[in-house]
Amino acid sequence: MSDGIDLELLRAKYRTERDRRIRPDGSAQYRAAAGEFGFYADDPWTPRIERETLHDRVDAIVIGGGFGGLLAGARLRRAGIDRIRTIEEAGDFGGTWYWNRYPGLHCDIESYVYLPLLEEVGYVPKWRYAPGEEIRQHAMAIGRTFDLYRDACFQTRVTEMRWDEDATEWIVRTDRGDEMRAEYVVVTLGALSKPKLPGIPGIENFRGHTFHTSRWDYGYTGDDLEKLAGKRVAVFGTGATGVQVVPPLAEAAGHLYVFQRTPSTVDVRDNRPTDEAWAASLRPGWQRDRMENFLKSVTGVPVEQDLVGDGWTANSALHRRVLPGVTVLSDEQEELVDAHKMNRIRARVDTVVADPATAEKLKPWYRYICKRPCFSDLYLQAFNRPTVTLVDTADSGGMPEIGTHTVAGYEIDCIIFATGYEAGVTDVMSGRMLIHGRDGVTLLDSWKAAGPRTLHGMTIPGFPNLFLMSFLHAVTASNFVHVLDEQARHIGAIVAEARSRAARYVEPAADAADAWVATIAETAVDNYDFQLDCTPSFYNNEGHPVRSSLAAVQYGRGPIAFFDLLREWRSTDGFAKVLH
Ligand code: NDP
Repeated sequence: MSDGIDLELLRAKYRTERDRRIRPDGSAQYRAAAGEFGFYADDPWTPRIERETLHDRVDAIVIGGGFGGLLAGARLRRAGIDRIRTIEEAGDFGGTWYWNRYPGLHCDIESYVYLPLLEEVGYVPKWRYAPGEEIRQHAMAIGRTFDLYRDACFQTRVTEMRWDEDATEWIVRTDRGDEMRAEYVVVTLGALSKPKLPGIPGIENFRGHTFHTSRWDYGYTGDDLEKLAGKRVAVFGTGATGVQVVPPLAEAAGHLYVFQRTPSTVDVRDNRPTDEAWAASLRPGWQRDRMENFLKSVTGVPVEQDLVGDGWTANSALHRRVLPGVTVLSDEQEELVDAHKMNRIRARVDTVVADPATAEKLKPWYRYICKRPCFSDLYLQAFNRPTVTLVDTADSGGMPEIGTHTVAGYEIDCIIFATGYEAGVTDVMSGRMLIHGRDGVTLLDSWKAAGPRTLHGMTIPGFPNLFLMSFLHAVTASNFVHVLDEQARHIGAIVAEARSRAARYVEPAADAADAWVATIAETAVDNYDFQLDCTPSFYNNEGHPVRSSLAAVQYGRGPIAFFDLLREWRSTDGFAKVLH
């Protein structure tokens, strides 16, 4: 017993609950929304527009039109680059906020730190946690502010790019038959962009309607979900998406069946409209200060005032297993604080959910950061409606029996998959988009023997004038847009410097890249044991963690140290190591 909590008993309970959910097929249990299931990933928002193929030359190509691509475009524009072409599969800017338009969609990080370039665009979000449509509109506003629509190329996928040694530029080919040339290329494809579906046997025999939350079918549901009145709707998935989409569905559907395999932690949200007087009082530089204050607060660095003051910053000590920062607690203290936190999360279920059996099923039994924490003041409440049924499928591994019009024996008209994304799968890492560098060597081949080789995760030996923006050889953060922002600033600074020094190309010196690879290895954090004890999720390869897999490709001292290191590199002429 420690501080009134029997940790041994709790550990045993966590293990039992984890074991109920571990499947031998791990990540292979899912089906990609590709091939015969490719229609699940079709674009419901923009009809395909035919256009002439492009055979031209621009100054820079940015592959990816989400916040990463928008930030890269903005910083390249600030670096004086004229022709910037974003190439994006979607029909407009926005990335995940283009695709995801499900009812209830909000950002789950405070919008004043999450939405990038607020001061540059001259905008203050209307809500503390902005709805998805406001975020999408802001993405488009960034595109307009930085004149990124001029050369943008939507509904287009890059299939291959090749370095032309003689011309010192890239040749980029697409699925539209384009062949474009550019001095610089930035690749920023996101980490959770490919929808996945549960591989439930017999699901293809279901004759009702189905779709994935990231491709919401408003034609079926109606714009205000009015067409769901009288319909029996099933939702699969109770992660960050499920928690947001269940409340509006509960209100609209004739009957809602929530098929849950693992409950999320659902803490207080406390969303509220932006205080206009506060917005009017903001002074230049406020957003950067706030982002840095949030990052410090969430990684346990003492601050004079925690400006955001929400569920993310309040639980900073419990994030360090996925977000390296300041270690303020010993392992034992951390486990105890975790146990208290989870007890409060479980107690909240009892205070909100009236039916004790339903409440019991909604209680999460794992360490706090085993899954992405969720926040809602509507989700648990939805289960008090007589028209909402929680169906726990943990013991069947989430594989209920599916008939032509039934799921687990319930008559169902429509199944909505809130089952998430293939984690870390991008066209670059899967080889769907081939990058041929010097001597025609592909990026994947050059990394095959000894793993990734980069400087700061952004520049790569053998691949001149190419920049990557991702967590690879870099860092993650609760607010990943902050990472993208720092990366875009860094790339913009390198390109500006290359221009002012009339450099022929940008490529890291071999010793600089080797030193960075060594730094990644030295700082690697081994959370294998922690992840092994966690309930399955995409955080731990569905319960089959690979020793140090993620840590091995990340800078283990965390985001604050990483950003400091980049600033220091720039101010001490690190440029000399990459400009030729
Ligand atoms: P997740 O991968 O987090 O969740 C998928 C859900 O589907 C889990 O609850 C999973 O259960 C469930 N599931 C999978 N297979 C089955 C099955 N056979 N039967 C029943 N349930 C099943 O995906 P999300 O889309 O929820 O979130 C992905 C990420 O997107 C988040 O981590 C977050 O980073 C981001 N996000 C951000 C939001 C924001 O507001 N900023 C909002 C939404 C998402 P189990 O846990 O048992 O595997």
